[in-house]
Amino acid sequence: MNKKKKQSWHQAFVIALIVLMALLLIFSRGYRAARRIRLPDNKPAEQNISVKATEHHNTTGRHNQSAEMKQTGPYAYQNINREMLLGKLNPATDPGFAMIDDDHASRPGMYMRREGYKAFRQMHQAARKEGIDLTIISATRTFDHQQRIWENKWNGRQGLHGDILAPDIADATERAREILRFSAMPGTSRHHWGTDIDLNSLNNAYFESGEGEKMYRWMKKNASVYGFCQPYTANGRLFDGGYEEEKWHWSYYPLATRFLDAFQDKVSYDDIEGFDGAHTARKLEVIERYVLNVDRECF
Ligand SMILES: [Zn+2]
Repeated sequence: MNKKKKQSWHQAFVIALIVLMALLLIFSRGYRAARRIRLPDNKPAEQNISVKATEHHNTTGRHNQSAEMKQTGPYAYQNINREMLLGKLNPATDPGFAMIDDDHASRPGMYMRREGYKAFRQMHQAARKEGIDLTIISATRTFDHQQRIWENKWNGRQGLHGDILAPDIADATERAREILRFSAMPGTSRHHWGTDIDLNSLNNAYFESGEGEKMYRWMKKNASVYGFCQPYTANGRLFDGGYEEEKWHWSYYPLATRFLDAFQDKVSYDDIEGFDGAHTARKLEVIERYVLNVDRECF
């Protein structure tokens, strides 16, 4: 073989190697996106979601970074167990949680995971300097707590939005769907994870004028600096349906994305049981349609 020919073989080999590596990279990303969203096979939305998820991971370095962080530390994916995901724990005695100061909360006795609370304190301080008040009105909720909220609505002890009483809706699935507009089924709430908080008001209208609007605008601009995102937005969701917009609900995503990942592999419909109306969970696909259907910034 002459020298020139040898050189061109060498070049061809290098090019083939680069093409092979590029293909491997594309396939591994596609696999990751497909693994993260487990919609049933017959759902046409699946393809779109996978594409969106892949794009998202390609364009935001932040999430790639948090994917790496998932491998180590107390909240490594493999250390998040089913009890932690389902809210079957006691934050008052669990060393992973910190009690929220009265200065940051509307009432005493609320808890957040330590890392998230540390980030919140920094955000609170920065907001205060600009005359913005961030008050936590709900934080970690256990399965039992969520069960009380859910069953109060299910049994009509508490009205739904627009003064509807759930027991007036005869069909169980439709009754659950109506409650699900704003309330999660026990076992499926992000509030179980200790990573999510509700701020200032449980009413979207509050955030549309005056102090509320000022606060929401500040959060949209600055929350991501401290690791917070809004999972239930009006227009940024992975797909249609799910909870309605909640301008008050914020999530500490460096931890919450790990919990969301773990949820997909460790929680099944067999775990969503033990409360009134639980039998509707499967039909409503609450895992796929509600738990996983968050804003792309929180995914
Ligand atoms: Zn909330």
